[in-house]
Amino acid sequence: CGVFGVYGHSDAASLSYYGLHSLQHRGEESCGMCVADGKEFNYHRGMGLVKEVFDKERMASLVGNMSIGHVRYSTSGDSRLANAQPLIFKYRDGDLAIATNGNIVNAPQIRHELEQSGSIFQTTSDTEVVAHLIARSSKDVVEAAKDALARIVGGYAFLIMTNDKLLVASDPHGLRPITMGKLGESYIFSSESCALETIGAELLRDIQPGELLVLDKDGLKEDRYTEPQRKALCAMEYIYFARPDSDLNGSNLHASRKRMGSRMALEAFVDADIVTGVPDSSISAAIGYAEQTGIPYELGLIKNKYTGRTFIQPSQELREKGVKMKLSAVRGVVEGQRVVMIDDSIVRGTTCLRIVNLLREAGATEVHVRITSPPFKNPCYYGIDTPDRKELIASNKTVEEICREINADSLAFLSPEGLISAVGGDNASDPSGGLCLACFNNDYPTTLDFDGEEKAGC
Ligand code: SF4
Ligand code: MG
Repeated sequence: CGVFGVYGHSDAASLSYYGLHSLQHRGEESCGMCVADGKEFNYHRGMGLVKEVFDKERMASLVGNMSIGHVRYSTSGDSRLANAQPLIFKYRDGDLAIATNGNIVNAPQIRHELEQSGSIFQTTSDTEVVAHLIARSSKDVVEAAKDALARIVGGYAFLIMTNDKLLVASDPHGLRPITMGKLGESYIFSSESCALETIGAELLRDIQPGELLVLDKDGLKEDRYTEPQRKALCAMEYIYFARPDSDLNGSNLHASRKRMGSRMALEAFVDADIVTGVPDSSISAAIGYAEQTGIPYELGLIKNKYTGRTFIQPSQELREKGVKMKLSAVRGVVEGQRVVMIDDSIVRGTTCLRIVNLLREAGATEVHVRITSPPFKNPCYYGIDTPDRKELIASNKTVEEICREINADSLAFLSPEGLISAVGGDNASDPSGGLCLACFNNDYPTTLDFDGEEKAGC
């Protein structure tokens, strides 16, 4: 999912519209925004894309100078309007709105406990437990939010809004990205910096692990609700999820992905005629591989602009249809050629098999697959949609077996060390590069205090 917040701008809703549109790749299922005008909340949520959900009339009704917004893809398959965010509640004499990117691993326990003592939940979203924890506290909203955040375990970026305050928080490991920018006198918060660029805001910095920022009439207060733990920003943000024009932790994503590609070339060179990347996420890495090897980069695969991200379709059936609608091989480019095909990850293996076959059907004589991440063996519990371990192909098969299964002539994955060195950035000296690598190495940064079933995050 993606979140976007504005503090102190007379047209908070328009900025949010453009911001959320720039974060659309983080979730295409539903979206929403809530704007505060000092007295009440004006809000709207709907299923679908930002440009579908918000028309001119809607936008005109969203008056106010503070807002939080959200684009969602469900990590639990529970895709319905009630779970669209921001979630909005009556709170004391006013209102409370919450938008999250991430997943709370101990939400089922907290929810159970709250239900036992009388809470009635409106949604199946794990975000709602935070609202209940805040509402039940007798402290003011900032102290109540600190207590609530200290109780939850997981990977998350939170935007919390009352009628006169905006709160911004990152989990103790900084698993999910959230950045702060400035536009004139206004503060802007966004899951990714690409959305700041869109609205002309200047990137100030990333929100740090365990931080809680409070914005109100007294300005910006930089506070924290807990001590930071080891920095563990999601490696999949670098590999696949974030847009190439975003900066994460001090480094540009396109540049990081190019380095992943050139590192891949050093680790697993293969003689071939052309290099092609699976659009859009692997184009940067393919350019890096081509630059490093001297094999020309070509557009062997084309993406239809009018389809969304296949992985973000909640069911396997939709995903499978999605791949065919989305990609075509370019016969004039690949026919008679030995092709190196760069992709960012293999999760179930179905997409990869289809793309290899597309290239072969279009006349490629050899297809060598290079994946710019290590084998994806373990599920994510922090808000990236991944299947159970039994569906993760790398958890059950060797590289040779996967190679046969995807019908490739050869297959190689980037090493964890290669990934860490390619990411670079502010944490380059840390042995894990300031990254969470749990889906590759099973080293989860938090306790996994959950029942193994419910993953109703975002
Ligand atoms: Fe990201 Fe993998 Fe960690 Fe999940 S487990 S937060 S996908 S690196
Ligand atoms: Mg892909």
